[in-house]
Amino acid sequence: MQEKLTALLETARGELATAATPESVEQLRVKYLGKKGALSGILGGMGRLAPDERRALGEKANAAKAELETWLQEAAARGEAQALEAELNGPRLDVTLPGRRRAQGRRHPVSQTLEDICATFARLGFVVEQGPEIETDWYNFEALNMPADHPARDMQDTFYVDPTTVAGTGPVVLRTHTSGTQIRTMLRQKPPVRAVMPGRVYRKDSDQTHTPMFHQVEGLLVDEKVTFAELKGTLAAFATAFFGPATRTRFRPSFFPFTEPSAEVDVSCVFCRGAGCRVCKQTGWLEVLGSGMVHPNVFRHAGYDPAQVTGFAFGMGVERLAMLRYGIDDLRTMFENDYRFVAQF
Ligand SMILES: [Zn+2]
Repeated sequence: MQEKLTALLETARGELATAATPESVEQLRVKYLGKKGALSGILGGMGRLAPDERRALGEKANAAKAELETWLQEAAARGEAQALEAELNGPRLDVTLPGRRRAQGRRHPVSQTLEDICATFARLGFVVEQGPEIETDWYNFEALNMPADHPARDMQDTFYVDPTTVAGTGPVVLRTHTSGTQIRTMLRQKPPVRAVMPGRVYRKDSDQTHTPMFHQVEGLLVDEKVTFAELKGTLAAFATAFFGPATRTRFRPSFFPFTEPSAEVDVSCVFCRGAGCRVCKQTGWLEVLGSGMVHPNVFRHAGYDPAQVTGFAFGMGVERLAMLRYGIDDLRTMFENDYRFVAQF
């Protein structure tokens, strides 16, 4: 048995001297020192020996085991050193190469513009009010001084959710403007009011400059003794903040059922700076919003006394302002969700 042990050590020394990788060293550890390894195999026969022989063999076996462990450690250290050496001599890793980029989302130009409009009015002291997109006829038309025979209520222009007339509120529609939120805001709070109403609106319209759904921002300011001069000042301040300090404004008389007097607001053309170009049809001016002093009938519907308060309201199309700001010429590109388009802004 002692000879077997000596022979085993001899073979192990030779194999461990040539083991080159951590994996092969581990394989040899299992082969010689594992539970079913070579050493255990030899010691398994110890029970048949006389006590003296057994003690002598036990000492030898312990010494052999210690020796094997030492060789295994040396071989493992050598294997790791060789692996490191191989890695250092292998192909170089260029740490200056750019990393893999993650695709990044972008804010849609309509979202950016809508947020910019609201932020500009926030700096002028306006809060943001939200209202429902499905609205009753009363909030969308009646309360805004648009009685039942008004042309804007034509079936041609309005999407009806439920055309059944309900007593007191009328049929249910997709809102054609965010003005219903103006009424809701006034019914909810006493004057003064200073708020903008952003949101989606719906009309039966579809061509290069119209889509059945678009975004609006309306505004409302109500207090005692509010004048048309304040309307002009507020909207001129907005125009320069949004389109740039050189922007001029002009107010043209107009008509809306819910304001009196009413005015369309033009800004000097952002493309030609007023010299005249294709976009402004050589006029030098671009129409950007509608406005006016709140009609007394609207105040009455909203529970305000027109003898006590006055105010002004205005409204603008977000897509139109986005098109002017970014030089986009087809409204429909706004809704195609083509990433190549959105990524430009
Ligand atoms: Zn122009």
